[in-house]
Amino acid sequence: MIIAVPKEIKNNENRVALTAAGAEVLKKAGHTVLIEENAGQGSGISDEDYQKFGAEIVADKKELFDRAEMIIKVKEPLKEEYEFFREDQILFTYLHLAADQELVEFLKEKKITAFAYETVQNEDGELPLLTPMSEVAGRLSVQAAAAYLEKPKGGSGVLLGGVPGVKPAKVVVVGGGIVGRNAAKVAFGMGAEVTIMDIKQSTMRYIDDIFHSSIRTIMSNPNHVAEEVKDADLVVGAVLIPGAKAPNLVTEEMIKTMKEGSVIVDVAIDQGGCIEGTYPTTHDNPVFTKYGVIHYSVANMPGAVARTSTFALTNATLSYIKKLASQGYKKAMLNDYSLALGLNIYQGEIICQAVAETFAENY
Ligand code: NAD
Repeated sequence: MIIAVPKEIKNNENRVALTAAGAEVLKKAGHTVLIEENAGQGSGISDEDYQKFGAEIVADKKELFDRAEMIIKVKEPLKEEYEFFREDQILFTYLHLAADQELVEFLKEKKITAFAYETVQNEDGELPLLTPMSEVAGRLSVQAAAAYLEKPKGGSGVLLGGVPGVKPAKVVVVGGGIVGRNAAKVAFGMGAEVTIMDIKQSTMRYIDDIFHSSIRTIMSNPNHVAEEVKDADLVVGAVLIPGAKAPNLVTEEMIKTMKEGSVIVDVAIDQGGCIEGTYPTTHDNPVFTKYGVIHYSVANMPGAVARTSTFALTNATLSYIKKLASQGYKKAMLNDYSLALGLNIYQGEIICQAVAETFAENY
């Protein structure tokens, strides 16, 4: 199969859908891999790196799309890219169609067979192509916050780990899933005093086990959240209620009780945020200050560490890309139900239930 990897054009998107090593795996499986010129630049992968592993560099975007049977991307196609698609091509990328009716219309009209990374789901309900980005965002949340706690950045001047004789920072993580555990891991590793709050007993037992009781676990309810947040130096919002907007668990009244120069990172901002008063920010302007507290709420955090994110993404997507290319999408779906759940649009029809329900009134 001819697989094409365009250069991402979304603002500040430096990730690319395939590493050079990933291209080699596909090449060795008998496929042709076309990479748009400079597609890997933002992730530190040069055209020569790709060529070394057997990929072909294509300078002309139109030629790249024209020759492709399957297009793999990171972000959803933007309007400027629509004209390049051909009927009946396969598209595999993050799509988030429920939020983009125009894109749904386009994919239906062009009869694109569209698989979405975010709806690929394995037997135990995990979303294997979202997990790596949650790992990145969780770890990055503490790294970013540590810098904003510094005085020149407007922070309270607290060092996360303290030093011998001086107490460390208090970090409160609301939500103990993938993001929350990865945030906790970094904060704990830096020497902070860490509390994770969740509503699932089983999650808190698991956290208690893996951290050998070195991280406090507290049941999440409004009273407990208020109690924990008030003397926190850093609060990380990491809640997810699948398919729903995140609830405002940390209210503005609670934020007012925090020390000046403390930091809040609302990782759940892509689902509306779980901290009251936050709104999506960008890598160009990632923070705003409210009630003396610095709020960081970048909706696409992994983009800041594009190289790590690109490698993590390819690690997760490659086996699915290989299956789609080697077996053809029909056989690949029959052989792997988790991949079948990734199918969102097939020959002009919406297949994904959640997307179909969102646009039920329109069709
Ligand atoms: P997850 O499903 O692994 O974890 C969510 C956790 O929230 C679960 O443990 C759940 O029990 C807990 N939870 C639900 N209701 C709660 C409540 N009332 N109080 C406390 N905990 C509660 O999800 P995840 O992969 O960790 O993702 C978390 C959020 O981060 C999602 O909104 C995701 O979209 C977002 N995210 C954002 C970025 C970004 O760049 N901003 C990147 C990756 C993920």
